Amino acid sequence: MDLELHEEEYNLLKKSIHVKNKIVFLDRDGTINELKTDYVKKLSEFIILPNVSKYLSKLTSAGFKLIIITNQSAVGRGLISLDELDKIHKFLTKKFFDEKCIINKIFFCPHVPNDLCPCRKPKTLLFEKALDELSPVDIENCWMIGDSESDILPAKKLQIKSILIKNNQSLEESVNKILDSMSK
Ligand SMILES: [Mg+2]
Ligand SMILES: [Zn+2]
Repeated sequence: MDLELHEEEYNLLKKSIHVKNKIVFLDRDGTINELKTDYVKKLSEFIILPNVSKYLSKLTSAGFKLIIITNQSAVGRGLISLDELDKIHKFLTKKFFDEKCIINKIFFCPHVPNDLCPCRKPKTLLFEKALDELSPVDIENCWMIGDSESDILPAKKLQIKSILIKNNQSLEESVNKILDSMSK
């Protein structure tokens, strides 16, 4: 059997093996859903901001994996059960999927600050888990969008580009910035 590949086929194969994941990390509260004065304790309090999936679906189309990383100390405070949190995240993922926006995974920290856990942002553990699961990763094309300094710090530590938005700000500009950076 002739195992020799034509140069063209070989290059194609090489390319397919080396495809690396581009990732956009997203905060949840204040970035995807309305940040309010109180915690989100049930599905009815989870209000998705206008046009979020419209803009994020452009990132899905452009080949980005979308990963949400969120601190949910409401769990540790006993204000919401893991079941209810799961219900919210399933609702979000399904709704966005129907709108052509694929949320690849949601990582959350359930602890309160006093737990001094390794996963609560600004710690980097949940980012590292995601990078590991999506390995190999094209780190040059990874971004974090969040409305708090604690979203930006872990990204910086891991050489991930970041965009700090205001609470409940539209994602239009951020998404355009990421898409523009690709064409360069
Ligand atoms: Mg936030
Ligand atoms: Zn934690």
